[in-house]
Amino acid sequence: MPSNSARTVRIAIVGGGIGGLFCALSIHHHCSAAGVPLEVDVYEQASQYKEIGAGVGIGVNAARLLHKLNIGDRLNAIAGHRNGVWIRFSRFDNSEDICTLPVDDDQTVRQAPCARSDFLDLLREVVEERGAATLHTKKAFKHVEDQEDTVRLSFADGTTATADMLIGCDGIHSSVRDSFVVDKSVFSGQIAYRGVIPIASLQNWPFKTYSVAWLAKHRHLLVFPIARNTQLNIVAFVTKSASEAAGIKESWTSSCDRRDVLIDFDGFDEPARQVLSLLPDQPSKWKLNDREPLDRWHYMSGKVVLLGDAAHAMLPHLGAGAGQAIEDGWVLGRALSEHLSSATRSPYFTSLESTAQLYQTVRLPRAQKTQRTARAAGNTYEMQAEDMLDKSFEECIPMMAERTKERMKWVWEEDLDAAYERVRDLEASS
Ligand SMILES: Cc1cc2nc3c(=O)[nH]c(=O)nc-3n(C[C@H](O)[C@H](O)[C@H](O)COP(=O)(O)OP(=O)(O)OC[C@H]3O[C@@H](n4cnc5c(N)ncnc54)[C@H](O)[C@@H]3O)c2cc1C
Repeated sequence: MPSNSARTVRIAIVGGGIGGLFCALSIHHHCSAAGVPLEVDVYEQASQYKEIGAGVGIGVNAARLLHKLNIGDRLNAIAGHRNGVWIRFSRFDNSEDICTLPVDDDQTVRQAPCARSDFLDLLREVVEERGAATLHTKKAFKHVEDQEDTVRLSFADGTTATADMLIGCDGIHSSVRDSFVVDKSVFSGQIAYRGVIPIASLQNWPFKTYSVAWLAKHRHLLVFPIARNTQLNIVAFVTKSASEAAGIKESWTSSCDRRDVLIDFDGFDEPARQVLSLLPDQPSKWKLNDREPLDRWHYMSGKVVLLGDAAHAMLPHLGAGAGQAIEDGWVLGRALSEHLSSATRSPYFTSLESTAQLYQTVRLPRAQKTQRTARAAGNTYEMQAEDMLDKSFEECIPMMAERTKERMKWVWEEDLDAAYERVRDLEASS
């Protein structure tokens, strides 16, 4: 890859989801500031840049990075508001409080629970407004070839593209990852029913805040407000065996009859059942998978890098997967701009490979900790952790409350720029 030269650097991003579009914005932001001439192409397999259904909680760690890109106000304008409560955990059978965890969301930089479609639209609009990348559709990546200084990408439609660097942001079933790693997604033992309902359709709703999780053994129901508190995002988790989950996909194409959801949540208190009874006739039904942690995120001498779910797909129980993809994009953008502009002295910037290694060294431990903690959180919420298996619901309740109180602190409070600079400068001074 050309470094510190006038030649335009070509970057190919495969996958135009949250990770891919944020990465394009971050690279543009950092490289424009450093005066690096750049051409970024995003290759998305779908026919449009669109998310359907459901919500996504953007944690304050990720929201902070959107504010650094000067789109924080636009993020807040599409988000829901949790009114000072991150979440209230309730008993499934009578909605009594198990523990209520506060969040400081009166600040400008705050949690941003959004409709996924609004959030992706925001990222796409900003990419277009800033000319951060050329967005391609119907480009399903198939194959990458090492051509010494460049890589050649092949797509399912028979076309090819050449780039100095390929960033694989193509999700949990990443084809870019598959080109280098032999592994499979791992079934979590849970499925999730998902849907969104208008908050105005709820009658006699007893909670001041709408962020509530009702917990039972093997089942839990999570709801939170999105879209300026006009819509309620619903995710209903149930433990299932591999044979029960066979045939369910990890996508919006799997759905079920609403009656199946009500059967699975039999015995839940009235407010929870009201929410479920308002789901569409055919709510979406997801198989929840993640991946085992992967210890290498860059290949072909740094010309290929993995990002987001392609590098570290995790279970949704911390609401942190999208935020981790956003953190990846921020760090990769910073590292690339410093490598390409030679503005910063650090042995990491002598080659693209060591720059990719810097990105991995900063991001991998934190992303893998999030992956592991998300698994543990799911087991705790469903009271399936090793030491809860032989305990009753009543015995599990205090254990669950204790384990949950501090769980999100380290996810949200990270100073990512300081962490990046620490790693970068440590190497420089050693
Ligand atoms: C039930 C559930 C709830 C969740 N809730 C939250 C939450 O509240 N907060 C949170 O932070 N995270 C949440 N997550 C996780 C979050 O959705 C993911 O971590 C995040 O979307 C990852 O972004 P990504 O861009 O890496 O991958 P994706 O969002 O999967 O995007 C990948 C993109 O690549 C495209 N693509 C795939 N293959 C190819 C190919 N071969 N060629 C070209 N393009 C390709 C896809 O079409 C897609 O557009 C949740 C996940 C689930 C399942």
